Amino acid sequence: MKRIFVSLLFVFLFLGCTKNPYTHREQLILISPQQELRMGLSAEQQILHKARLSHNPYYIAMVNRVASRIARVAEAEFHPHYQWEFHVLESKKINAFCLPGGKIFVYTGLLKLVDNDDELAAVIGHEVAHAILRHGSERVSMAMLGRIGHELLARGLQVSGHQWGPLYDLAYGVTAQYGVLYPFSRKFEYEADQLGLYLMYKACYDPNQAIRFWYKMMKASRVHIPELLSTHPSDMHRIEALKRYIVKLRRIPRNCQARIQ
Ligand SMILES: [Zn+2]
Repeated sequence: MKRIFVSLLFVFLFLGCTKNPYTHREQLILISPQQELRMGLSAEQQILHKARLSHNPYYIAMVNRVASRIARVAEAEFHPHYQWEFHVLESKKINAFCLPGGKIFVYTGLLKLVDNDDELAAVIGHEVAHAILRHGSERVSMAMLGRIGHELLARGLQVSGHQWGPLYDLAYGVTAQYGVLYPFSRKFEYEADQLGLYLMYKACYDPNQAIRFWYKMMKASRVHIPELLSTHPSDMHRIEALKRYIVKLRRIPRNCQARIQ
């Protein structure tokens, strides 16, 4: 029976493993892009139902301006075919995130800390990178696999072929709702940092402002850990990696005629 369990697990891993076209890393994803978009849409609705939208015209204009430029680069370079939407939420929380499908949320608490468009581009670029790299789905898939294993053990591994569907649905139902707020692993953070910097650079923002912003967040965390850092742990190693990547970025051509550099 153990052998059957192990082989079925391998089938799942085989079916769910895809090579990420941007990082070239094998990812285990048990969720289809369509399911992912549905998850993003339903999470967006849930958040909008509870949250208070900001009416601050300065913040709304800033988020629209920066997010649409990052989104344009993301679409041009990576073609995720998202229906982009940008929301500014009234909240003291220092936070921002991007749901699958390009639903970007920025809290006013974070905007208070942001000194210029380039800093905001650093945050939005990083969050959009998580979405394009499908990190949320990868994390949910890992949780699903754990849940499936747990169910199998609980049932004494007595599962026949036609029972896999309901088992999958059960694991999906339990884990799908947790797609947004769990912290990403360090590996995911490094990947999002790199792609995020690339996006902001190509959108003609100054990537050095990303360093400035993350330093600021680290300083803020000495008083009170901002929400963004509770899901995106930051440290000197990460900032050093950002600096190294900025040096490489400078060699990549970009067309920024409309913007003074
Ligand atoms: Zn992150």
